[in-house]
Amino acid sequence: MLRVGLIGDPVAHSRSPDMHNAAFAAAGIDARYALWPTPAADLAARIASLRESDVLGANVTIPHKLAVIDLLDALDDSARRVGAVNTIVNQDGALAGANTDAPGLAAALTEVGRGHVTRGIVLGAGGAARAAIVALADCAARAITVAARRLDHAEALVDEMQPRLPRVALDAGPLVTGGRLVSSLANADVVINATPIGMAHAPGSPLDAAQLAALPPHALVADLLTTPTALVTHARARGLAAMDGLPMLARQGALAWELWTGQPAPLDAMRHALGLS
Ligand code: NAP
Repeated sequence: MLRVGLIGDPVAHSRSPDMHNAAFAAAGIDARYALWPTPAADLAARIASLRESDVLGANVTIPHKLAVIDLLDALDDSARRVGAVNTIVNQDGALAGANTDAPGLAAALTEVGRGHVTRGIVLGAGGAARAAIVALADCAARAITVAARRLDHAEALVDEMQPRLPRVALDAGPLVTGGRLVSSLANADVVINATPIGMAHAPGSPLDAAQLAALPPHALVADLLTTPTALVTHARARGLAAMDGLPMLARQGALAWELWTGQPAPLDAMRHALGLS
């Protein structure tokens, strides 16, 4: 049996095994996707183990998406543009890094009719924020504001990403309740939450009622969290379009699955495993 898995710490909450094992079953491939919890001290050994001949590759999640880069043999264009790796492919013992988060999010935005936007806002400045910036750029955004609780993190991310995205005007702002975001919110087509705010360990909403009220009526609020969040609930209550992170999870997973198997992904089976129609 072939093997593939999720490398991160923690990973127990992940829905990726259900999704990928449904895909292997649908395609009749004798392979199993497992959770591979990996503290930082064990990362190098874990990555080395991916070179074994029965391993297709891996997904990578918090906190290793940047740290794995130095442990791989090659990066594809997607990983270079985002500056982070969420998918590793074992190519006869050589490890190639890719990023399917960005095209996965772009595909999820396209699914809901937001494949062409003008102005976006990304909340957070971590690994998922990088993918969100590239996804918005690939959806034709001309201006993107990155807002983070630590302004210096948002500024550093903008400084890093701007040279790779010359056709987009990136700027940084603070993510604070009632804060200066309001002026950018008034022009935003899409707001993407790439912080963990809304999960059990970080309850609440990254945007308060006044900030949501500042969004134009056509705006989409996209939360990358895959569990129900106050942000999505409050946005819908205000009459705004809103989506959670499950469509992105399905799309980034399908792209990763295709890299591992070389076959078109059974997207319907993967979506069904996540409870999507
Ligand atoms: P990360 O690298 O740890 O970055 C998280 C960002 O959120 C950082 O900017 C962090 O700021 C900020 N943050 C954390 N707690 C905060 C709080 N209480 N208030 C304000 N800001 C806070 O994580 P990530 O990899 O970007 O992932 C972010 C979320 O996206 C995760 O929950 C993950 O599950 C989700 N995600 C979903 C998908 C999908 O397919 N749907 C894919 C990837 C990620 P500091 O730097 O100040 O800590």
